[in-house]
Amino acid sequence: MTAVLAGTVALAAAGCGSDTTGTEAETPAKPTFAAGTTAARLAEAGKVTVGTKFDQPLFGLKGLGGDVEGFDVEIAKIIADGLGIDPDDITFVETPSAQREGAIQQSRVDFIVATYTINDKRKQLISFAGPYYQAGQDIMVKKDNTTITGPESLRATNAKVCSVSGSTPAEKIKEYADASNIVLFDVYSKCADALRTGQVDAVTTDNVVLLGLVDASGGAFKIVGKPFTTEPYGIGIKKGDTAFCQFIDEQLTAAAADGRYAKAWESTAGKVAGAAPALPTLATCS
Ligand code: GLU
Repeated sequence: MTAVLAGTVALAAAGCGSDTTGTEAETPAKPTFAAGTTAARLAEAGKVTVGTKFDQPLFGLKGLGGDVEGFDVEIAKIIADGLGIDPDDITFVETPSAQREGAIQQSRVDFIVATYTINDKRKQLISFAGPYYQAGQDIMVKKDNTTITGPESLRATNAKVCSVSGSTPAEKIKEYADASNIVLFDVYSKCADALRTGQVDAVTTDNVVLLGLVDASGGAFKIVGKPFTTEPYGIGIKKGDTAFCQFIDEQLTAAAADGRYAKAWESTAGKVAGAAPALPTLATCS
């Protein structure tokens, strides 16, 4: 065993000797982290598993070629980069709204970037870094609909409204619609299908999620345009991992300062949603 190891070292040394200068110049220094931290573990592994959405254009959409695109995906890449991990070494897994806390608790993902609103109920189970964006709940209808003009008109028009199980909009809409008129699916693309076929009259979730669906609808849908909640998007991590929360916040702050945050927006959601927002004030990690 000792002989084999010694041989390996000798070979590696010989390989290095042939072009030391070139290798050193091209390889950026790997970041180092305090032993025992999540960042140290991931950096050492050189790979990371990230939960995101697969059916939300502009934020997290899996293309036919298998690649996932969107602002959430770019935020994940910024965090991975801080760990010294290449985009190619990120495994994206689909985390529909109702599965997010469980995926973190069961270690099926290392973190989640998935239009994920920070709130106290979720903070009992997991922790959040960020926020990195602030959305607001809105309503999407067919282009020719003139009767649904805001949440108040849902009851007045006896409208059937679609949202997603385990989401904050599905909870909030109970104030504005009777249970018998609320239709819940596991993902928003199914709500868009139901709107297209006339099975529902409206879809409710965050404005930027709806914007992606409107953009992909080829003119079939529109957004009412009156947001009625605030939805600060956080990065979901294991409950109480304060060091990892602080690490992620540092990456967000650095990316906002050097333009990578704005670039991430402009290459994704910004194509439809306009100019990049400022990074919101980060919450205290706890
Ligand atoms: N931001 C909201 C939430 O986290 C709605 C979008 C979603 O379901 O991902 O519940």
